Amino acid sequence: MNPGPLGPEPSALPNCATPRPCALKSTSIVYCITPMVSNTIRTLCQQAWKAIAICGIISLGQKEGDVMAEEKQLTLFERGDVEGSAPEQMSLWQAEAGSKKRSTEAAMPSWSAVAQMRAPREPTRPVEPKGLWETDIVRDYLPDLDAIAREVRDCRLCKLGRTRTNAVPGEGHPHARIMFVGEGPGADEDAQGRPFVGAAGRLLDKIIAAMDLNRKEVFIGNVVKCRPPGNRVPESDEVSACVPYLARQIELIRPDILVILGATALKALIDPKASITRMRGTWLTRSGIMVMPTFHPAALLRDPGKKVLVWEDMNKVTAWMKDINGQREE
Ligand code: SF4
Repeated sequence: MNPGPLGPEPSALPNCATPRPCALKSTSIVYCITPMVSNTIRTLCQQAWKAIAICGIISLGQKEGDVMAEEKQLTLFERGDVEGSAPEQMSLWQAEAGSKKRSTEAAMPSWSAVAQMRAPREPTRPVEPKGLWETDIVRDYLPDLDAIAREVRDCRLCKLGRTRTNAVPGEGHPHARIMFVGEGPGADEDAQGRPFVGAAGRLLDKIIAAMDLNRKEVFIGNVVKCRPPGNRVPESDEVSACVPYLARQIELIRPDILVILGATALKALIDPKASITRMRGTWLTRSGIMVMPTFHPAALLRDPGKKVLVWEDMNKVTAWMKDINGQREE
């Protein structure tokens, strides 16, 4: 067969695996190499296109997964504040775990963790201090004021019960907005069975009148209900035995303001280490009640210079009451 000037036709060539000097003619090398190179390039292109297509699909899949996860998360947070549920939180975690090719068990939070995630976020509230008078026992047992008075008159819980003439439960309005609390009965009170009826009591009447009030509008009581012999300061066991009566009176009346008269009442109701000289005239709050400590009227009889201080303290009480009255009328 004559191959012609350019060698044989490509279809007539044997399959050449590698370029080599052609046994036919040098021009035939062109026909040997060209199909092999073009085949190789086509194969490479096909592989590249496959790789690009696979990458594109994976990329699109991940993108779509991310968008879905974001949308789901947004929905969950929106609902989570109102009515989201723990199982929904779990499914989100599982979805995230799958997209990151982690095991479900490794990614799934414990139920306690989910509970913590969903724990209500309440603002922290300041803890309101309680008065020393406030106990569960007192709150569980709240008969009316007359019942307390009867109990006091029959009481022999401490040694003061053996030396008294009359117990002095206290008196006044059952829903008084201001309550005065002193130390204990003196000789006149012991004789009559009524609080603040001696010289100190008459001074207290003047203080109350200066506040545009009278005794029937307030409640007047003492820390101990029986007179300590010789008007001594009540002892701690006597205060401990008797103060639950006062506590129940405070809980029943729930006054707006508790005016504490003197050191003994301040220590019994607020803080055993409190100083009346330092704390008088300073507003306190205990168990939701405004508390104003001031000097006992008996102290004013001994030292009239303190009257101006008590006057200032009671002006604060009056001003506060006017403020509250104004707010309630609005
Ligand atoms: S002081 Fe109080 S506790 Fe003591 S006997 Fe009198 S009422 Fe009872």
